[in-house]
Amino acid sequence: MNLANGFSRREFLAQTSCFGALYALAMRIPLPALGADLVDDSRVSQTPLVDKGFAAVRKVGNGLYATISDPTKGPTTLCNGGFLVGKDAALLIEGFTTPAGASFQMDALRMVSQVPVKAALDTHYHFDHSMGNSFYGVNNIPLWAHATTARRIVDSYSPMQGAYKEAVLGPLEKRVKDAKSDTERAHAQSDLNAVTGLFQIANSSVLGLPNRPLDPAKLPMSIDLGGLTAVLESHPGHSGTDIIARVPEQNVVYTGDLLFSGWYPVCFDEKATISGWRETLKKFAAFDKDTLFVPGHGQICGQEGIALIREVFDDIAGQAEKMYKAGIPAEEAQHRYAVPDKFKNFPIYAWGFTIGPAITKLYGERKTAKS
Ligand SMILES: [Zn+2]
Repeated sequence: MNLANGFSRREFLAQTSCFGALYALAMRIPLPALGADLVDDSRVSQTPLVDKGFAAVRKVGNGLYATISDPTKGPTTLCNGGFLVGKDAALLIEGFTTPAGASFQMDALRMVSQVPVKAALDTHYHFDHSMGNSFYGVNNIPLWAHATTARRIVDSYSPMQGAYKEAVLGPLEKRVKDAKSDTERAHAQSDLNAVTGLFQIANSSVLGLPNRPLDPAKLPMSIDLGGLTAVLESHPGHSGTDIIARVPEQNVVYTGDLLFSGWYPVCFDEKATISGWRETLKKFAAFDKDTLFVPGHGQICGQEGIALIREVFDDIAGQAEKMYKAGIPAEEAQHRYAVPDKFKNFPIYAWGFTIGPAITKLYGERKTAKS
């Protein structure tokens, strides 16, 4: 059987499993059910509402739920999300990687409440948060996102649909072949694996676009769900389309990918800025000391999770600064970062999507600051 873009079903399935393997590889340690610091937090229920392996839903507050993914168990959801349930209405967070993922979360919501769904929110445009959006279209659920999210979904993923696999993956395969060292080869291979997974997902998805653009100039915006108020805010850093949902009365924040909890941050986006992201994390650190963060990836955490990701950024910036001063060119420096012992269990999605571009951007920001 041939699929539209000319690769066989067998290859198609091989790619699916390759994607799972990539994540299994990235996650060198099994995911704990909960961070140790949260076991005693009375807001967080110890037993999940539902657990399907690829994701589990847990109560994290009054009417507040977190969907936490385990990407080693397949790409149904991949990212984290959650939902907020008031007396009158509910708000769903994320479109996930597949409509099945969005549907899973909707089913979890219906286990606890029958209130109408006011909207779903894509925290940003990236595929793992948006490729399941079509579920909301089918179910007449308004889909909210940053005003530029729809455009960026189309610009980023539509060109991959129906494209020749060789055209998309060829340059990456060449990088693996031409690598000058084992380190560079390993980095190139991790990038090839990531794009292979993305290519497969883009080609098996019907793109669904947000139909309620949120103008960042008009944020923050309060949403009354009936005895539960959520505040949407826009912050710079990860993708140029990032929106968080805060519940100030309960000190709970759904951060999207502005927080990678116990992971290396994904920094490749053309609109990602390291200085902007670090400023955002500084703001998060100034939130109440009892704030509970539902991150875009990794485990639910408190302020210690914010401190940790700030340390990761400090470490990358520190190493980049040393290399910059030593006159090492950016092309070389991006491969030379050494993962310190403290972070050796932090998953790295792919080198060229995380640490590599962080260093290149830090070099760029350094030059801009100088001139
Ligand atoms: Zn992202």
